Amino acid sequence: MAARASDVVIVGGGIMGTSLAWELAKRGAGTVTLLERHTIAFGGSGRTGALIRRHYSNLPEATLAHEGWKTYNAWPDLVGGDPIHTPCGLVVTVDASPECIDNLDKLRKNVALQNSIGIPSVVATREELQGLQPFADWRDVPLAAYEHNSGYVDSVTATRSMAHAAMRAGAVIREHTPVLGIETDGTRVTGVRTPDGVIPAGTVIVAAGPWTNAALTGSGVTLPIETLRVQVAVLHRPIALEQPHFVYLDTSAGIFARPWAPGRTMIGVAGGDQHEPVDPDNYHEQNNPEYPQQAIDAIAKRIPGMKESSYLTGQVGLYDMSPDTHPLLGAIGPDGLNVMVGFSGAGFKKGPAVGRAVADVILNGSCQWVDLQPFRPGRFNEPGYDPNAPWTDTEYTFSSDFGHRL
Ligand SMILES: Cc1cc2nc3c(=O)[nH]c(=O)nc-3n(C[C@H](O)[C@H](O)[C@H](O)COP(=O)(O)OP(=O)(O)OC[C@H]3O[C@@H](n4cnc5c(N)ncnc54)[C@H](O)[C@@H]3O)c2cc1C
Repeated sequence: MAARASDVVIVGGGIMGTSLAWELAKRGAGTVTLLERHTIAFGGSGRTGALIRRHYSNLPEATLAHEGWKTYNAWPDLVGGDPIHTPCGLVVTVDASPECIDNLDKLRKNVALQNSIGIPSVVATREELQGLQPFADWRDVPLAAYEHNSGYVDSVTATRSMAHAAMRAGAVIREHTPVLGIETDGTRVTGVRTPDGVIPAGTVIVAAGPWTNAALTGSGVTLPIETLRVQVAVLHRPIALEQPHFVYLDTSAGIFARPWAPGRTMIGVAGGDQHEPVDPDNYHEQNNPEYPQQAIDAIAKRIPGMKESSYLTGQVGLYDMSPDTHPLLGAIGPDGLNVMVGFSGAGFKKGPAVGRAVADVILNGSCQWVDLQPFRPGRFNEPGYDPNAPWTDTEYTFSSDFGHRL
């Protein structure tokens, strides 16, 4: 196909790129072209847990998560297509070991933060959790945050549905079209390079996840993104556990888990030894041989009956980690170049909201409903910026690494 000029080119067909394409196309941003080097949802968006949690210890990310949830929860009306959100209830546990006991007070404050923006989160006691899910073992959980109407989505369905919405709004989506680099005239972007030639464009947004720096070739921009390989397993539950369980963002048991389909559970084992730095173009795409048993043992800590579950299949995905585990959103480098990357294993829930926020910046010059300044992509080069410093005094501490901050 000949390379045709575009007003806006988006690089990457994950939930970020497709959400932005939909927002820009429906809001009349001109010719919007999304280029995906494989197929839509090939990256993290097709291999994710897609837990739609809204519990965050900072306002901007809680806002993005809540706005993302609103879109997922009203998908047929807002985006079109079938409902995609299963609001089965979601529990967030925190490490309450003696060295992290402050987490319990932080949890109360963070639930209040969520309530202040309309998220119906509550602090649930051990006894209340036991009443809600008697088959789980809550002895290590004095308190948890409970979101009764949060849940999960099928991420491939959601991303593809978003791509269809973008096309209905007028966006052009081209699969199997890798962007080889960014073209500039020295001060601003002029297009992107593809195997079919240069596509001229005045605005380019890179949403290429772990492959971001390769896509940025020629722009003069290199971002501090590290790629981590992360496994999940899908288990058959024993017949005694017919009832679906909550979604768990369970930092106490060191797992994230959710119902997958009737009778099945998806689980990811968190922890530093599970996060392996890899080359995003050359990594092992199947579960390690020992992973199925590790997954069964890990979820049996929360749901003892899962000891009797059996391994069905697994998936391996990549986290695009930023140094502070928060995303990079907005303009950087030559005029007209923007990024939406570095979601560090926690971006799916925010996708539709990030698309809306970045579209506001591109179309209006700023976003009024969420503060994007903390996500400025150049922050890591600022003198004095400490990527290890907590963003708020209610950020949780962990006695072992959970992968991303909370
Ligand atoms: C195992 C796992 C569990 C997770 N669990 C959760 C969770 O429970 N909740 C949550 O909110 N988040 C979760 N995440 C994180 C979430 O999935 C990601 O943050 C999100 O999907 C990132 O979307 P994206 O669009 O930025 O990137 P991606 O989905 O990775 O999309 C990037 C796309 O860009 C394409 N691309 C790359 N380079 C080029 C190029 N040069 N030219 C053209 N195309 C290119 C790729 O092929 C890819 O399709 C999880 C991730 C993993 C891996």
